Parts: sequence; structure tokens; C-alpha cells
Amino acid sequence: MTTAFPTATIVGYPRIGPRRELKKAIESFWADKSLAADLETTANGLRLATYRRLAKLGLDAGNSSIPASFSLYDQVLDTAVAFGAVSDRFKDLYDGDGQLGLDAYFTLARGDKERQPLEMTKWFDTNYHYLVPEIGPETAFSLANDWILRDVAEAAEAGFAVRPMLIGPVTFLLLSKAADEAPAGFNPLSRLDDLLPLYVELLAKLSAAGVEWVQLEEPSLVADQALPEAEITAAVQRAYRVLATEAAERPALLVTTQYGSLGSLLPVLAATDIDALHIDAFKGAVPAAADLAGLGNTTLVAGVVDGHNIWKADLAASASTIAALEKAVSTLAVSTSTSLQHVPHNVEDEQQLDAQLRSWLAFADQKVLEVVTLSKLIGNPGAIDAEIEAASAVLASRETGAGVKRAEVRDRAAALTPSDFTRGDYATRLAAQDEALGLPALPTTTIGSFPQTSEVRSARARANKGDLTAEQYGQLMKDEIKRVIDLQEELGFDVLVHGEPERNDMVQYFAENLDGFDVTVHGWVQSYGSRCTRPSILWGDVSRPAPITVPWAEYAQSLTAKPVKGMLTGPVTILAWSFVRDDQPLGETANQVALALRDEVTDLEAAGIKVIQVDEPALRELLPLRNADQASYLEWSVNSFKLSTASAAPATQVHTHLCYSEFGAIIEAIDGLDADVTSIEAARSRMEVVHDLEDHGFKRGVGPGVYDIHSPRVPGQPEVSELLEKAVQHVPARQLWVNPDCGLKTRGYAETEESLRNLVNAAVAVRAQLETTVS
Ligand code: GLN
Ligand code: ZN
Repeated sequence: MTTAFPTATIVGYPRIGPRRELKKAIESFWADKSLAADLETTANGLRLATYRRLAKLGLDAGNSSIPASFSLYDQVLDTAVAFGAVSDRFKDLYDGDGQLGLDAYFTLARGDKERQPLEMTKWFDTNYHYLVPEIGPETAFSLANDWILRDVAEAAEAGFAVRPMLIGPVTFLLLSKAADEAPAGFNPLSRLDDLLPLYVELLAKLSAAGVEWVQLEEPSLVADQALPEAEITAAVQRAYRVLATEAAERPALLVTTQYGSLGSLLPVLAATDIDALHIDAFKGAVPAAADLAGLGNTTLVAGVVDGHNIWKADLAASASTIAALEKAVSTLAVSTSTSLQHVPHNVEDEQQLDAQLRSWLAFADQKVLEVVTLSKLIGNPGAIDAEIEAASAVLASRETGAGVKRAEVRDRAAALTPSDFTRGDYATRLAAQDEALGLPALPTTTIGSFPQTSEVRSARARANKGDLTAEQYGQLMKDEIKRVIDLQEELGFDVLVHGEPERNDMVQYFAENLDGFDVTVHGWVQSYGSRCTRPSILWGDVSRPAPITVPWAEYAQSLTAKPVKGMLTGPVTILAWSFVRDDQPLGETANQVALALRDEVTDLEAAGIKVIQVDEPALRELLPLRNADQASYLEWSVNSFKLSTASAAPATQVHTHLCYSEFGAIIEAIDGLDADVTSIEAARSRMEVVHDLEDHGFKRGVGPGVYDIHSPRVPGQPEVSELLEKAVQHVPARQLWVNPDCGLKTRGYAETEESLRNLVNAAVAVRAQLETTVS
């Protein structure tokens, strides 16, 4: 007999701390400025503070309502070490007791002198990145880390019966990749039967430790997979037969399926013997009663409060979802749709925000309160009428709020015609650009930012505090721009950049200078490990009150006879890395941003800038998890990019830049952007992308990255030449550009200078080889 599932819960809570306490403690430990024990003390303090906070907000301290969702670095890594799921190249990290401790954990996350860390990649359609476990046919699973039990004991001692979590076995293996030692075609999911006994063993230990409920996360089940659906279905059935039906000693099991709809896997999971099933009832469709019929006594945990964005909930809509689901199932509970790790802690920390905007927002703490409020509806339909009315009033005030819907912005968008989205034909553009720019074969350039020195950062901090006048700050930035231009001249680059010293962040910088946005002070969310970002809030109609980048670009261009690139962040990336209004289709918002950027393009051209780069590193990030939804996404996202750039004259060379993912799947969309030159991250994958470009028959300029800027390592000239020679075999030389993988912002000057010198010299050498072959 299992204990009832609590009526209110959340999938997870931010881990980094309200003032990024965890980030600071981890980075200080890495820098040898503190001990493991200090880190432990901070982590312990954060875990307990979270439990106390959640209890105060109304989650029950005594009934598994509070998730133990803390992680020192990443929840997928936590599950990997819990089960010893590490490949041969990390085997030496086990200690004498067969355990993977703190040092091993961080080596997997960050690598060491001899080896690369685990690969990092996007967590579903969020801006969080997880570490990709490596699994081979021989990977010997074992219980190799007992932090999960430690956390349970620590919580119990403080009076909290928490709900520990693991990534569920099917998702864990689907998120993993084949280890180096695996034969070609090896599929990690083939190890399911070897992994399940370890879950059973750990569940028994948790049960013995008094745990009543465990959370197994299975979000991969809402995303279309490369594997046939029948194989996934069989894996789900097998996994939960072993864990739910056959396991003798186990806590009750909650399976979570956040970020979308389960589709045909809903009845499959409903038919298993798990004790509670969480569905994303915010992003996903509200399921039909027939698909829920198999649940029987299994509790349905309805994720009705959006865990991924920051708007106050429409309680009336949530209440009707709850009412519909209550009719369809025997037991219902209320939750967030996803972990709250994607939103900041507390709106009350943002007193500087306009009061009206603040009244529309719900961060993690406010969302917990919403869940608790909605849970009162269960069995008691009239229970929160007053709250529903108040929430509806908030929505109404958003609709009519000053700046939310502005006629001039809407009229401009409404008047657009197809010709506003297209440039002239490429052959004409190419001829005009060749004439305007006169570039050599294999032209060299960088992606935009140069190292942000501590001087630059501190100048910005002092300017923000008012310790520097705008004039003084401007002068310091100009000094830095001059230094960057001089350096590129000396290194021999063909197309220069100003180095972006004036930008704190490539999205926030534009958000601060466009109408319709606001920025927070403490609104940090974890991007990966100790890295956080502070997404801007896009709440109203977007327009550009004044030129943003033009003075900097103009100044940089005045210093050199070579072309300097104007640098803009594209509409899709601005949307992806902000919290975006949810009261209209994303495509409409994207077009407003695009029009603001289009104004900037016009002004850059008028200021004599001949090359303009519009970065879209997040194009892949927002790609829907279901294949059926992808075409319409790619249509509006590609169109918004085209809208932002299509007004450029034929002689103006438009560049774009993409990174952070594999591009094979969206190569057609990349082509559809119709940029004259596209730079793509490629060095880590040893130029894999050139095959996709070749297969697709990519016709315009392309710069596959030849220098991996994600580590301080300096690539030698022969290494860069080799990558270029490989690229030339697949992409016609006249299309090829030579550039690093991404911006240099996070690098130091010493290694950057050396690497860039090697890059330019390699380009010159390969260029000379090409000339001898043709002549
Ligand atoms: N232009 C930006 C930079 O160089 C691009 C950064 C990115 O792609 N993430 O910093
Ligand atoms: Zn990049």
C-alpha cells in the first residue's frame, strides 16, 4: 500500500541559489580558493534553505511534496555517476571503494589535462545544457555514488520527507551517446536490461531509507526520436515492468514527462504499474479521457503551471484543465509543467522593475504559490474563485497595458508584403559584393567578440554604478576597439570586427536598447554547470527608438581601410534567450524584432558599413521536439531573419553565424536564410558539417569554424591547414571563408592572438596552394 501522492508539487526548483551562491562556491573550489568541505557546506545550506522555502510557500514538508532536485552541476551527470555509467576513458576515476566522488564528478564535467570532458548539449527546447553520458557495450554499471541517499538522510534530519529524483532509464539511455570504444551502430538503449537491475537496487536502498516517493524523469518520451516508435514503446514497457511491477522493495514511483505531449506513449505509460504520472498540461495538449483510461488508481499529476516562462498563470484556464482531468481520472494532483530551474527565484527581488510589469510576472516562488492555490480545486470546484478573478484581472491589464500593443508597430507589420522578405538574386549580389569588397580567396574573419578583459568588464560595472560618465565609458570602449582593430590589421585579417566590448551579452545589449523589453537584476538562470544567464523580458511591442550599434561600427570603420562587419543579434536568438510574451504567436513577435533590426541595418549601410552579420546561434534551439511541428517553426524563424536583412543593398554582404548544435537536420533552413556568408561551428566535430553542406549543394559563402574557441588550447597552423584542406575537398574554394568557431569573448588575449595568427597563416598557405593548382 503506497502513501497517497501529495495534491501539490513542483517538478524541480532552481539550484544555483537566489544570489548565485552555488556558482560562487563551485568556482572558488575549482580555483583552489576553498575546500571541498566549504563547497559541501554551501550546497547543504542551499538544499535545506530550498526545503524550508518550499514548505513556507505551502508544499508539505512531510509527504514527498518537496522534490530533492538539487544538483552540483547537472542532473544527467548525477544519474550517470549514481549508476557508474562512464566510458573506458574515465575508468581510472573510480576510488578504491568503486565510487565516483567529487573530483571524478568534476573531471567528467570539465575534463582535465589529458582528456576532453563529456560533451554538453541542449536539454530539450530550453537554454539549459546537460552532459551527455558515454556508454559502450561493456560499460560496467554499478552503484558508484550515493549522494542521493545522503540528500535524503540530510533532509530527514532537518524534518523534511523529500522526493529524490533520477533521470528515468529510458530517457537516460536515449540522452546518452555511444562511447568511443563502442562498435559502429551501437545504440545505448540496447543496454536497458543491464541498467535496470541497478535502478532496482537503488530503489530498494531508497525504500530502506524511508523514502516514500521517487521521481523518475522521462522527458525524452515527449520528443520524436531517431529510433522507431515501436522500439521506444517496448523499452518503456520493459523498463516499467521491471521497476514498477517486478521490483519487490521500492518506493512509490512518479514518472515525469515534461516539455510536451506524450502522444501515443501516454496510454503505454498509463498501462504500467507506476504510482503517479506527471504530464505537461501547459505546453502539451490536454489528453483525451480515453488515453487516460488505463491509469486506474495511478495518480495523474497535471503540470498546469508553466515552468519555462515567467508570466503569471491564467488560473481560469488552469482550473478548466483541472476540471476536465478530474472527470477523467481517479486521483489528480497539481504541479508545474517543468522544473522551475528555467526561471529565476523571486519576482520580489526585482523592485526596480516597473510596478505594472512586475504585477504580471511569476518567478519560481510565485509559481509554487500558484500550484498550491490550484491544488485547492481538487474535489472543491469553487475553492479559488477570488484568486481566479484576480488572475483574470492581471491578464486584462496585460492586454491594455501601455506599450503592449502599439499601433505604429502593428501597422508596420501588417503592411508587409512578400517582397519585404526577399533580396535580389544571388548572382547579382555576388558580383556587386566582389566589386565592393575585393576580397582574396579564402577570406579570413572572426565571429565578432574579442576577449572581454577585466578592464572592459570593470569599466562597464563602474559606468553602471555611475562612477564613470557616459563619455568616459565611451572613450574606454573606443580605446579597446582601436586595440582590436590594430591587432587584426597586424594579424592580416581581411574582414575586421570591432570586438563587441560594449556588450555585456549579445541579447541583453539589444534588449536594453529596444522598446518592449526590460532586464532584471537578480534574474539568473542556469545555462550549464556554474554558468548562468540573465534572460531579458520581452513584454511589449518591439521597436528601435534610436540607432544602437551604429556609432561603434562607424568609429571602428574610421580606423581602417579594410571592411569592418556590423554586428547584430538575430530575431530568433533574441527570442530564444529572453522570456517572451505569450499573448501572441512567436512569429509575430519575431517580425517586430526583425523590423527593429532592419532599421539598424539601414543605418549601418548609411554609415558606410559594407558587411553586416546577423547572428542566429539559437536557430536550432527553438526547433520543436515533434517533427510535425518543425516545418511551421522553420518557416517563421527563417522569415524573420530574412525580414531583418532583406532591405540590404545587393552590394552589402550579409553574414550569419550558427553554433551550439549539429546542423545536418536544418541545413535546408540555414540555406533558406539566404545570407551571403554563413559561419558555422565545426572544429570540435572535425568539419563534419562540410558533408552536410556538400550533400545539400550549398551555393553561397560558408565558414566552417577551424578553431575551437571553447577551450584555451591553441590550434597549431598545420592543424588549421589540415581542416581547411578537408573543407576545400567538399566545398568549392571560392565559397570558403576562414574563421573561428564562435566569438572570442570568453578567451584570454595571449592564447587568442597566437591562435588567430595560426589561423591567418594557415589561410595564406592554403590560398597559395590553391593558386599553384589553378595556374
Ligand atoms: N557575435 C557573437 C560573438 O562573437 C556571437 C556569439 C555566439 O554565437 N554565441 O560573441
Ligand atoms: Zn557562436
